[in-house]
Amino acid sequence: MSWSRDLPTPARALAIAAHPDDIEFNASATLAKWSAAGCEVSHLVLTDGSKGTWDPDEDITALVATREQEQRDAAKAIGATGQVVMFREVDGELTSGVEPRERLARWIRELRPDVVLGHDPWKRYRLHPDHRHAGWLTIDAIVAARDPFFFPDHDVPHHRPDALLLFEADEPDHVEDVSGFEAAKVAALLAHRSQYVTTMEIAPDDTGEQREAFRKKILGRMREVGEPVGVDFAEAFKAIRPL
Ligand SMILES: [Zn+2]
Repeated sequence: MSWSRDLPTPARALAIAAHPDDIEFNASATLAKWSAAGCEVSHLVLTDGSKGTWDPDEDITALVATREQEQRDAAKAIGATGQVVMFREVDGELTSGVEPRERLARWIRELRPDVVLGHDPWKRYRLHPDHRHAGWLTIDAIVAARDPFFFPDHDVPHHRPDALLLFEADEPDHVEDVSGFEAAKVAALLAHRSQYVTTMEIAPDDTGEQREAFRKKILGRMREVGEPVGVDFAEAFKAIRPL
């Protein structure tokens, strides 16, 4: 198949994800590249991340606060200059009904992104319900945001983004060359310290070896995506445009 490559740098981009760290795993090198080129990058996280622990005695209120700060640190690590918006829906219980769609459509109208990035709701055989619902919400909120008669009570005008990039895509067809921004992605991921054990296989007593193994794994994935299109490092998406 032939891949489309490298959207023009948007003036504003909005990444929407289910949990703190999803944007970092899937799109942060692309967002780092655009930030460096002057794009205003905003992050919007739909849930509070309150299931992100294997410790039954964890202080969940503290975990939620920690994860919000980690998300802000991750945005800083890629040089993002936009907003970090936390919806704080309960982790694991995200729904894609009209109420969260209305809230999300309002943020799209407020932030006016040229490019929206989000989960692919059509990804087959995926178990996590939040990722499915986050995907539906992203698409449904774009449809609502772009036309004036959806949620006409909003105090901001309707807004139609130019493109949607779906990450963890079932049928990826677009790559962003992120060579030079691979280290920023690793730094953004490592900002999520509370997730070292559950998603990065880095133990609390790691002396550096496990962090290094994680770094190599992330770089290796970006190399694999870049290889067929002849670039050192890349991130892959399903591109939908025009919207
Ligand atoms: Zn997630």
